[in-house]
Amino acid sequence: MQETTRDIKSMTIEELAGVMKENGFPAFRAKQLYRWMHVSLVRNYEEMTNIPKVMAERLSKEYPLTTARMIDRQVSKLDGTQKYLFAMGDDSLVESVFMRYKFGNSVCISSQVGCRMGCRFCASTLDGLYRSLTPSEMLEQIYEIRRVTGERISHVVVMGTGEPLDNYDNLVRFLHLLTDENGLNISQRNVTVSTCGIVPRIYDLAKENLSITLALSLHAVTDEKRREIMPIANQYSIAELMDAGRYYFDRTGRQVTFEYSLIRDVNDSAQDAQMLAELARPLKAHINLIPVNPVKERGYLQTRDEGVRAFEKKLEKRGINVSIRRVLGRDIDGACGQLRHRHLTDQKQETVSDNAGE
Ligand code: SAH
Repeated sequence: MQETTRDIKSMTIEELAGVMKENGFPAFRAKQLYRWMHVSLVRNYEEMTNIPKVMAERLSKEYPLTTARMIDRQVSKLDGTQKYLFAMGDDSLVESVFMRYKFGNSVCISSQVGCRMGCRFCASTLDGLYRSLTPSEMLEQIYEIRRVTGERISHVVVMGTGEPLDNYDNLVRFLHLLTDENGLNISQRNVTVSTCGIVPRIYDLAKENLSITLALSLHAVTDEKRREIMPIANQYSIAELMDAGRYYFDRTGRQVTFEYSLIRDVNDSAQDAQMLAELARPLKAHINLIPVNPVKERGYLQTRDEGVRAFEKKLEKRGINVSIRRVLGRDIDGACGQLRHRHLTDQKQETVSDNAGE
């Protein structure tokens, strides 16, 4: 991983001004550099045409620019969703998704290389956590998609591989850079961070004065059931998670979302729906129902379509604001972490067959 002190694309304008001073360049260059990196989205210093050559050379040696290399791209024939596989500087593989909605284009980014949260239904956690991503590596996923598609991006969701609140400081810095008026200037209201529920970090995030949406991955309504499918539930109870969600809502005024993946015969009964409504009501939470995306290694089945609709109706009848997540990109390794996992598995298989040939 790059040291933060050298990672120029993770720096605020004020920090860039410090770097300018240290290196004997005028302070006004900080804003120019920032705009080249975060508005023009250049991939190297040579493209910064109003920066003196000596300065560009010096900076490229001392402060290499973080860039994401596109390794693979799958475009859904069904809905135009695009799934990207990027390699970072150390060849770490990271997955991101570009989606078109009526309200604008949205990018879903990863916050870590792999994940250590161990949710039983999730592909991202199959290979464990390798490392966290830097703020610039989170930004680059969006920037590279912007470069490749040439399309404006108005919404960002941190719902790809990794647990964002397990990479807290980098996440918060990323959120500030992403929504900085001197950069891509994405509205904070159009940014969503999804967490499996690291309770103390939810309180911290509430205090950051950011107007972003918080999504809580709930997936079960009793502690017992939740512990079966989400190891994090051994650390924090649903009651504690609800208190944190309530605090977030009160402090930020932002409606919280509950993510609820419907798994056949696991969490999709009439009683589950009733208890879910009772959890959502005091928080005025919005519920996002997601028919679980089957991951070969996991063996869970999706609730059938009619079951999903019945579950939705039960919530609606109780006055809960609910939507069924439109399943995008079903034909392109839709579930979190599947594309990366497939590449890692392919690599392993190649290594095995190489060895076998010796
Ligand atoms: N770690 C964060 C963000 C990444 S996962 C979190 O837990 O929220 C983004 C969302 O997708 C979470 O709600 C997660 O539980 C859900 N998810 C993961 N694997 C899934 C699958 N196979 N099918 C449906 N939803 C899944």
